[in-house]
Amino acid sequence: MSEKSYDLLVIGGGPAGAATAYWAAKAGLHTAIIEKKVFPRQKTCGDGLTPRAVHQLSEMNLNQELNEYHRYEGLRAIAHDKSIEMKWPDHPIFPSYGYVVRRCDLDTMVVENAVKAGADFFEGMEAISPLDKSDIGIEGALVLDHSSGENIKFKAKFIAVADGANSRFGRSLGSNRNKKYPMGMAIRGYFESPLDKEPWIESALDVKDRQGNSMPGYGWIFPVGNGTINVGIGLLSTFRDYRDVNTTHLFNEFALTLPDYWEINPLEPIEPPTGGRLPMAGSVGPKAGHNWLLVGDAAGSVNPFNGEGIDYAYETGRLAASLFAEANAQKDNSVLTRYPDLLDEEYGLYFKVARLFAKIIGNPVLIRELTRVGMRSQTLMEWALKVMANLMKENDKGLDEVAYSAIASIVRMVPEQKVND
Ligand SMILES: Cc1cc2nc3c(=O)[nH]c(=O)nc-3n(C[C@H](O)[C@H](O)[C@H](O)COP(=O)(O)OP(=O)(O)OC[C@H]3O[C@@H](n4cnc5c(N)ncnc54)[C@H](O)[C@@H]3O)c2cc1C
Repeated sequence: MSEKSYDLLVIGGGPAGAATAYWAAKAGLHTAIIEKKVFPRQKTCGDGLTPRAVHQLSEMNLNQELNEYHRYEGLRAIAHDKSIEMKWPDHPIFPSYGYVVRRCDLDTMVVENAVKAGADFFEGMEAISPLDKSDIGIEGALVLDHSSGENIKFKAKFIAVADGANSRFGRSLGSNRNKKYPMGMAIRGYFESPLDKEPWIESALDVKDRQGNSMPGYGWIFPVGNGTINVGIGLLSTFRDYRDVNTTHLFNEFALTLPDYWEINPLEPIEPPTGGRLPMAGSVGPKAGHNWLLVGDAAGSVNPFNGEGIDYAYETGRLAASLFAEANAQKDNSVLTRYPDLLDEEYGLYFKVARLFAKIIGNPVLIRELTRVGMRSQTLMEWALKVMANLMKENDKGLDEVAYSAIASIVRMVPEQKVND
């Protein structure tokens, strides 16, 4: 069996894996990405990039590449027959715009960038199992080359597990999702539309079927800029009857009741809609082993407020890469044990607030009332957008930040058990 040797082995070439590899290669680590699919590959997603995600892409020097795609200015919220348009807020770090980029294009762009930074990319190769799993870490991964059927041993000092929501490799290292945390489920499809270059992404907060009955979940319409729009609907496990929901039915009803101005043919999505799961709020752990770290969806990093996972995949990948580089330089693997605490510092309280929010909005009566009140006030909705997209200014004493801090301080005191019940 042939063998290859690296400083860092990254399992998965999605946003988390490509960002980990980019930052690690930049820091001088000899890095390999193992990706089971051949790029460009489809990935079920809303394709929406918030200002936070755009910032991370820009940090990876991808501004010019992003410019080729559809840039949008903010969010239009629709509920109770009202509509509110909200620009992304001004922020000292994050831009006041986002992009919609199909994942086949986005993920290829980011992985190619990692290769430019020095990483090796092995596509069509699947990490089957850890090599020599023991208490002091793993030696690498056994990898199946799908084109030749050959098994290859990839050995490495460090391993980043970036294999997405189902994270089979992560599970083989003992990772598990905390079932008390919320989980998302979403489905999306593409339709042709003349409004493919709208400057707003749209979010439907009270989705109804054709008979006018309320349906669980939130709908989105993201203009892709290539003659098509990405239409989808998602819901949280905190919703009543979550397990009985038929997402294909939800999707079809949502498409059939889309506002007329999108001019879609709801019966003719470009291809059959597909769905997936969104592990949230840091729900998967342990996140660190002796020589490995979980990043992105494999660590359950999606933001429960808005279902955004791409940015958190980039951010967790970047943090993990910096720890791998430090551990390598100091020849001290204990550096990696800081990872869970660093994640907690960055996202712990915010995700706790989000988990409580997820619990509250699981109640259909409450959510109807909240959106009814919210839709009467542009200011309130702009505040909600800022909080939900995690765009508050750090250490700022602006009204928005003060209001959020007040809520967060209360939530900090709520015992974990109460959030989980
Ligand atoms: C319907 C839907 C809509 C969404 N919309 C949005 C949105 O609009 N904006 C947003 O920010 N987020 C959205 N998300 C969430 C977002 O898609 C994820 O959070 C994001 O893809 C996580 O990136 P990742 O790199 O961790 O995982 P992934 O993107 O899943 O990448 C994992 C990669 O690992 C590869 N892989 C898996 N196992 C192996 C293996 N054993 N060996 C080698 N390779 C392997 C896979 O082929 C894949 O390429 C949505 C999710 C869903 C389901």
